[in-house]
Amino acid sequence: MSIGIAFRRGTVLLAVLELGALLGCGVNADLSESAEPDASPAETLRGSEADLYVASARLWRPMTVAVCWENPGLLDGVQRQWVRDAVARTWEARSGVRFTGWGTCAAASSGIRINISDTGPHVKALGNGLNGMAQGMVLNFTFNNWSTSCRSQLQYCIEAIAVHEFGHAMGYAHEQNRPDTPSSCTEPPQGSSGDLIIGPWDLSSVMNYCNPQWNGNGNLSVTDQQGAQQTYGVPWDSLGGNHTSGPAVAARGANRLDVFARGTDNQLWQAYWTGGTTWNLWFPLGGNLTSDPAAVSRDSTRIDVFARGADNSIMQKTWNGLVWSGWSSLGGNFASGPAVASWSASRMDVFVRGTDNQLWQAYWTGTTWNAWFPLGGNLASDPAAVSWGLGRIDVFARGADNSIVQKYWNGTAWSGWSSLGGNFTSSPAVASRGANLLDVFARSSDNSLWMNSWNGSSWSGWQWLGGELASAPDAVSKGAGQVDLFYIAPDGSMRHSGYNNGW
Ligand SMILES: [Zn+2]
Repeated sequence: MSIGIAFRRGTVLLAVLELGALLGCGVNADLSESAEPDASPAETLRGSEADLYVASARLWRPMTVAVCWENPGLLDGVQRQWVRDAVARTWEARSGVRFTGWGTCAAASSGIRINISDTGPHVKALGNGLNGMAQGMVLNFTFNNWSTSCRSQLQYCIEAIAVHEFGHAMGYAHEQNRPDTPSSCTEPPQGSSGDLIIGPWDLSSVMNYCNPQWNGNGNLSVTDQQGAQQTYGVPWDSLGGNHTSGPAVAARGANRLDVFARGTDNQLWQAYWTGGTTWNLWFPLGGNLTSDPAAVSRDSTRIDVFARGADNSIMQKTWNGLVWSGWSSLGGNFASGPAVASWSASRMDVFVRGTDNQLWQAYWTGTTWNAWFPLGGNLASDPAAVSWGLGRIDVFARGADNSIVQKYWNGTAWSGWSSLGGNFTSSPAVASRGANLLDVFARSSDNSLWMNSWNGSSWSGWQWLGGELASAPDAVSKGAGQVDLFYIAPDGSMRHSGYNNGW
């Protein structure tokens, strides 16, 4: 690998010199981008947290962006696919942005319009400034006139340039435009600047002309990835389906996840994952649900699923490792869907909001369910519950003020209610990555997802994760340091994001 890359890098350095000589100036072989017309002279610097120089008003919202080709050729399908694949394995794989379409532009096509031309690749604006703009992005597939050394390494050049230009298309200015650029980087600022600096100045950014690897060889730096997540949310994949409730998830082991949601037929539907990259998708399990389901695995074979039935009682269905039971009722008359936690194979605790808006609990001790009893509170949502140790349960819900409130059982007594703050529009989800660790999730009024983490002694505060949620989230931990998160997208499909010591 190193030999091949070193060779290409050497060749690209030649290209730099060649172009510099050609133009008689210090222009980098990278991108002789035309001056972007929207350059605003008075930029305000705000925020300082991963690298990138962001034009914050240029970020695409929603984060699904149409892309089309203005002049696709009969013979450049391979090159167009290289562009699409390079964007998929970088920006799309590491953030929540999604570029869709990729067909031939119509006269009125909005989104990003790409023109193929043998000239210096460039964009005419940053981010959503490109929306519908004719020849908004120009990409070179032939290199007979510009950077001719790319003719012997077409795929490398096309991919590396695509990653850089799509960085601009997401709203990122050149890293060397930042006011904190060190004197060791002598590339002049070029094109529009940002107004939001993310993280320390990054020599390895794909957006940095001073990067000794040309366009980072088309590979995002660690801080590019962090910056992309801070501006477009965490990456996700789609499990498809057409759901009418929020999801429920249970983990039976490090390589087994079972997810559930209500279908358009009000039945419970299941999908599962057994390791690897594929899911076994969507089959119906019967029932007539009137709420989001809840699920838990109390040992390595069993799954228990709960939901409110048509009579507003809580219904249960169990997988024993071989077959599903029928539906049975735990009784009651409730105003929300349930939550369930388990600290051992012979213990489950189910929680639900009563018609009095209090939290109600029932528990199972191996053979029987006790009667429902109230625990106080004034809930405005379904509860969420998790157990991170024997005798421990943490319950969360949205309170009357739309903040997330918590109550816990320490093995002998219930705590009072305390608030984690925030202003949310969904019930919460909770998962535990280990003893005395909690991750709580909820949706805000703009339908994006937020997370607040307990590290054993304090809460992190609410952090934005992006996403477009049409339901409450649900989350589970299948191993130390891991969280798997699910929610329903506006089109009814289920989305999944995995955290493994990083998103
Ligand atoms: Zn550029």
